[in-house]
Amino acid sequence: MKNTIIIIIFFISFLIISLIIFKQNQKEMQKQEDIYTIYPFYKEKYQNDYINYQKKNNLSMRQAILNVNIGLNHPFYENAKETTYNNDLTIIVNKYNYVSKDFIPNNLVSASEYSKKGVTLQEIAYKSFLEMAHDIEKDNMHLRIISGYRSYSYQEKLYNNYLKYDSQDLVDSYSARPGYSEHHTGLAIDIDNGITDYNRFHITQEFSWMKENAYKYGFILRYPLGKEKITGYKYEPWHYRYVGKDIAQYIHDNDITYEEYYYQFIDY
Ligand SMILES: [Zn+2]
Repeated sequence: MKNTIIIIIFFISFLIISLIIFKQNQKEMQKQEDIYTIYPFYKEKYQNDYINYQKKNNLSMRQAILNVNIGLNHPFYENAKETTYNNDLTIIVNKYNYVSKDFIPNNLVSASEYSKKGVTLQEIAYKSFLEMAHDIEKDNMHLRIISGYRSYSYQEKLYNNYLKYDSQDLVDSYSARPGYSEHHTGLAIDIDNGITDYNRFHITQEFSWMKENAYKYGFILRYPLGKEKITGYKYEPWHYRYVGKDIAQYIHDNDITYEEYYYQFIDY
């Protein structure tokens, strides 16, 4: 009799505990669903990183999630991986995503009409650049491409040359390591107006025009002022990236970087 009572008590306890665990799991699952609804780019594998990063940097949960997705909880160049979608307009190349040494983009064409001999770009970007360059001329302004596609070996020479004059930390703030340059995609351009040095492009009326209009042609200012911690580069008023009109419009309207766009809508 005594044994039977013990077994019954044991059984009832077991049922109650199971029910509590079940309810808790259900609650946890609901919480997870809510998180995915609010932040569709939430990645469960980074759960702890999000919490730590948010506390440490005193950011909104949304920004903390995005920054961790970008990789900003690690130093630049740490945990870098080879980028995917190599021939897609949405390709991302930055201090956490590189392209392989032998990668050459499809459809490179000469951009000689608006640059020195030898400058090439992906055709889709160049076509859009031509449209933009012709339109700005209607307002008596001028654009010139000073750099387009760069191969791995070219970037390597450039980077190593800078290292002769500056420390690596300083060089990293203004030049990409080989494989990590957006110019390697054939979708990035450095421009000036043919008169003022590119370093002072921001004082030109062409720059003001670009600020208002570049997105209409699918180009974004890739390294904006105040976003250095996200992009990893100092402000570069002369460097633009072709991403297509829809993405460029979204980035322009929401005043975000390509990194923030990419980890919200492309990689999640
Ligand atoms: Zn550039």
